[in-house]
Amino acid sequence: MTMPGQGTVEDVLRSLNFAQDVGKRIKDANYALDKTDLKQLLAELTASIASSKMELSLLAGVCEARDAELIRLNEALVYRGNLRRRGDGYYKTVDNRPYGQPYCSYCWEQNQKLIHLHSRILSKDIRLCPHCKNEYQAIRTPYLEAEGYTV
Ligand SMILES: [Zn+2]
Repeated sequence: MTMPGQGTVEDVLRSLNFAQDVGKRIKDANYALDKTDLKQLLAELTASIASSKMELSLLAGVCEARDAELIRLNEALVYRGNLRRRGDGYYKTVDNRPYGQPYCSYCWEQNQKLIHLHSRILSKDIRLCPHCKNEYQAIRTPYLEAEGYTV
């Protein structure tokens, strides 16, 4: 039996190689196997196919996660040219003028993640990043109207 892997191509290939080995053993026995051996080999074959399927679905999950990360990085790249730091937050801009709700400067600078700051419950003076939990002074991270623009 093969052990479950982490959804890498090697894991899928290892399971498939195991299935191929079973076929080879049948051939090496010159196709003359008694019922017990045949039953045993079929069980191994079924198990290695099931394991291949599982490794493939793990691999699909890994690919989907990478796709999502690529989309996120692409968005970050697009926004990079459009973001401005103002006070302690980052803002989207119209004609280089920052507007709207601030994004966490730590999350943006560290991980290129755009996380809106939230107002802290029962405190108008503190804004909180829901992701990294950094706190900001509300006065340094205001909501900015986009004058003359509808957003
Ligand atoms: Zn943050």
